Amino acid sequence: MKDILLDKSYAELCALVAEAGEKPFRARQLSEGLLHGKKLSELPVSSALRARLAEQFEEEPVRIERVFTARDGTQKFLFALADGNLIEGVLMKYKYGNTQCVSTQVGCRMGCKFCASTLGGLVRNLTAGEILGQIVAVNRLAGGGLKEKRAVTNVVLMGSGEPFDNYENVVRFLRNVTDGEGFGMSARNISLSTCGLADKMRRFAEEGIPLNLTVSLHAVTDAERARTMPVANAFSIREILDACTLYFERTGRRYIFEYSLIAGENADMVHADALADLLRGRPCHVNLIRLNAVKERSLRAADERMAQAFLKRLLSRGISATLRRSMGSDIGGACGQLRASYLESKKSGEPKA
Ligand code: SAH
Repeated sequence: MKDILLDKSYAELCALVAEAGEKPFRARQLSEGLLHGKKLSELPVSSALRARLAEQFEEEPVRIERVFTARDGTQKFLFALADGNLIEGVLMKYKYGNTQCVSTQVGCRMGCKFCASTLGGLVRNLTAGEILGQIVAVNRLAGGGLKEKRAVTNVVLMGSGEPFDNYENVVRFLRNVTDGEGFGMSARNISLSTCGLADKMRRFAEEGIPLNLTVSLHAVTDAERARTMPVANAFSIREILDACTLYFERTGRRYIFEYSLIAGENADMVHADALADLLRGRPCHVNLIRLNAVKERSLRAADERMAQAFLKRLLSRGISATLRRSMGSDIGGACGQLRASYLESKKSGEPKA
């Protein structure tokens, strides 16, 4: 694979343009073209510069291969990378704006038992530009602008992959996407979800990027957590909570816990009470969601009544919590499901999603 131009910060693009002996205003044109989702051959720069760039950089690092639209308007995308790998993403439409869910790795090696992204293990990390490339491609397809009328107003790093297992590239992406000279998205409109790599969480706190830090908790004790999340053998809930505290101290941002309700596993009232005890007094919010059952896995979702009771119990104990509705479930909304079914269908006919 050639290099990816969208990996570069605005300052690096300026240096590249200067090195090529071009006038400084070319850097602005180059940056805006890239952020509008243009291919290399479409960039509004001199043909000499374009030819020079084409020697070193990919023509189209992230291409939208397929789009699936659900009844509720949620769109699911299958992206093809320059080396032929496939990743997926989702655009969810809310009253206040559109949230895009992006991937940070091809596959994942964290091994969570309920998650489809990890079924084939980790293939490779995405570069910063391949993460940003998902956003600019979707924004372009939806006819969005750059500084105004953006079609993608919020971003969540909750697609395939563990962001902190690809730390350097993810932080580079975050710096570039929030750069006022670049895409200029506010960090407050970005959520990063981690399965709880506490060492990287501590390191991230020191970067001082004030986004919405989200931790996939899904259990109230380390032993129970280890049943569905192997990462629990490496980092305890205590270490995770301490890292959250550090993040709050450094950024002033409250943090969020994801808790997927799994029948017979973590969804009883004793779990709700234990969760309330664990989080009491913390500046945090709990996002409950009913497990989105993956066909390759035997785990079952808690039913709606149990989920409502769980929510009620948390609220009555003074914990800030919401039960998220599942979106786009008719098109395979959960992590890794679309890619998995697409890869399978390549062997036998049409995708199921
Ligand atoms: N690796 C990161 C981000 C990706 S997953 C992390 O673990 O946080 C985004 C969220 O969806 C995580 O909370 C993950 O645990 C959850 N998730 C994965 N598969 C799911 C499923 N089948 N049903 C419900 N939630 C799921």
